[in-house]
Amino acid sequence: MHSSSTAEAPEQKSTGSFNPVLLSFGGNLDGTMERFERALRRLSVSGFKVLNVSEPLVNPAVGCEPGAGDFTNISVLGEWNGTPLELLDLTQSIEIEEGRPADHPHWVSRTIDIDIILMGFQRLDLPRLKVPHPLASSRDFVLTPSRQVLPPDLMAFLEA
Ligand code: AMP
Repeated sequence: MHSSSTAEAPEQKSTGSFNPVLLSFGGNLDGTMERFERALRRLSVSGFKVLNVSEPLVNPAVGCEPGAGDFTNISVLGEWNGTPLELLDLTQSIEIEEGRPADHPHWVSRTIDIDIILMGFQRLDLPRLKVPHPLASSRDFVLTPSRQVLPPDLMAFLEA
């Protein structure tokens, strides 16, 4: 048996180095805040410990279909002791439960989008999961709410 490679490392149980986790929720259809509340409860009962939730940020839809409603975004800080891909499976199952098709096209209105922004100071480059989220540092709707919940050293890491 080979010793574990970097590619396998993310599949191992976290010993805490993947924490804290920063998630970003977004949505722009009716009932967004109710969807966010349900998603937070679902995360909590599935082993994701919610530590802090930002105020909602309402911001115009950019690059969506004409007439798309404003987006609401929140940042959620928490702890996860499973693997990164188990967390992605969970967030994706919540998106689908909340009415988002699994093959949802980019840049259209959506019931809920849950992105994994940070897992501590880790960098992951897996086919299904890139962390830090590659677009996060250029998105004000991620950075602004994240400032409310992230420790300063992780905020600096996210913005670097
Ligand atoms: P989107 O529709 O923009 O939310 O993108 C979803 C796709 O991005 C899925 O296929 C995920 O596997 C992939 N993905 C890669 N990195 C991440 C991440 N950090 N958080 C959420 N989804 C991710």
